Amino acid sequence: MKLNEYRKKRQFGVTPEPRGAGDAQKKRNGSLIYAIQKHMASHLHYDLRLEWRGVLLSWAIPKGPSLDPAVKRLAMQTEDHPIEYSHFEGVIPAGQYGAGTVMLWDRGTWQPESADVDASLREGETKFTLQGKKLQGSWVLVRTPGFGKNPSRSTWLLIKHRDEYASTKDVTEEEPRSVVSRRLLADIARDEGGDIERASQGDPAGQGRNATSAKAVSGRVARRRRPS
Ligand code: MN
Repeated sequence: MKLNEYRKKRQFGVTPEPRGAGDAQKKRNGSLIYAIQKHMASHLHYDLRLEWRGVLLSWAIPKGPSLDPAVKRLAMQTEDHPIEYSHFEGVIPAGQYGAGTVMLWDRGTWQPESADVDASLREGETKFTLQGKKLQGSWVLVRTPGFGKNPSRSTWLLIKHRDEYASTKDVTEEEPRSVVSRRLLADIARDEGGDIERASQGDPAGQGRNATSAKAVSGRVARRRRPS
């Protein structure tokens, strides 16, 4: 049920994105999945995904996460995605919804800090701990009032809490590569038939399509770029 909007927007014969196995997978044992995809679509953004009740709750963050507790990052809630999406890295073909290059930028697990997650989401303030490769520690998503009436398109702010993982380090700038393949966006586009020039605009300046180091790295790991 919750994946209807996700599926309606996509042509699964054309896009390599997963359709998702069930309507909403049964609760698995163990940890909840956390992932962030860096997505060079019509605009560059980072898609935060948190597994909850068999789907990935999703927020599009134009500037990406900041480790600095003084910085609030706009996060627009988007349609729920299937659990399988947490493995997706590749190219969404031109003309398809979200056309462009997708990088799996970070992945791990998360834990709610709120006793009642559903209530915290409803009330618009949900605290959680991330255990990723790039993002860790305590974070909060706070819904902001006054940006439209559609609850599935609500606007939130992603903020780092003060803890040992808080930092003024620019994590998106300093860690621009895929957490699974070490590729840059331009490498992914090159390997999978995407628009290299366009994808490279999402990579840090000087590390784009001409970076030989990126090529060397992508060559080494190219065979395991599609997990599962
Ligand atoms: Mn996206």
